[in-house]
Amino acid sequence: MIANEHVNKTYKMGEVDLKVIKDLNLTIEHGEFVAIVGPSGSGKSTVLNLIGCLDKPTDGKITIEGIDVTVLNRTDLANFRGQNIGFIFQSFNLIPVLSVYENIEYPLIMIQNLPKDERHKRIMKLLEDVDMLDQKDKFPDQLSGGQRQRVAIARALVTNPKIVFADEPTANLDTDTSNQIITLMRNIQKEFNTTFIFATHDEKIVTAVDRIITLVDGVITDDKRVAS
Ligand code: ADP
Ligand code: MG
Repeated sequence: MIANEHVNKTYKMGEVDLKVIKDLNLTIEHGEFVAIVGPSGSGKSTVLNLIGCLDKPTDGKITIEGIDVTVLNRTDLANFRGQNIGFIFQSFNLIPVLSVYENIEYPLIMIQNLPKDERHKRIMKLLEDVDMLDQKDKFPDQLSGGQRQRVAIARALVTNPKIVFADEPTANLDTDTSNQIITLMRNIQKEFNTTFIFATHDEKIVTAVDRIITLVDGVITDDKRVAS
């Protein structure tokens, strides 16, 4: 479970304080499939980065899996992220000099000290899940956008994270590919009870989720459960 209590984020822009997130109170349960929506600049990515432990709030408390992540130092935060959290980005963020297989392997080498054969098993299973087994030796620039995002999804999932954050994951994809990617993530959520939190204004995602949180100027203006 994720709990935010009175979370604020202020960026200092020279003399000016830019209050981007204002008194955010938000709870997200295990296995939720939820979208944070709102106009560009409303703070969606900032919220994702805060609860994804990529950034720290100016004040307030963020608890994930019972741990107050706002008091962790950089190393502990990186470890916590490695054990619990996966990220998927709009621009895929694959490493160009690594093959598909190696891109998926990368977080395992960086974060979790798994034996090589165990790593291999996990990677092959995920390659199959995202339907990229036959592309495993290719490099990112040899793939389509949809294929790259499939690799990014596999990379986000390879550490068996409890929570996956996806920031505009379909923004660079066509409609059919977007729908396939959304279905893929939904299937993973159902199979493993993985929590998915999207920041998006893509209607295709908005209509696929169970809960829509609307953010305007750093404030939650609506939070509703929907039948999808
Ligand atoms: P969204 O994802 O909804 O488009 P963001 O969270 O990216 O919104 O940004 C919210 C606001 O915070 C914007 O006004 C943006 O310019 C500002 N902002 C985001 N990151 C920074 C930063 N590192 N430094 C200063 N301002 C930032
Ligand atoms: Mg954003």
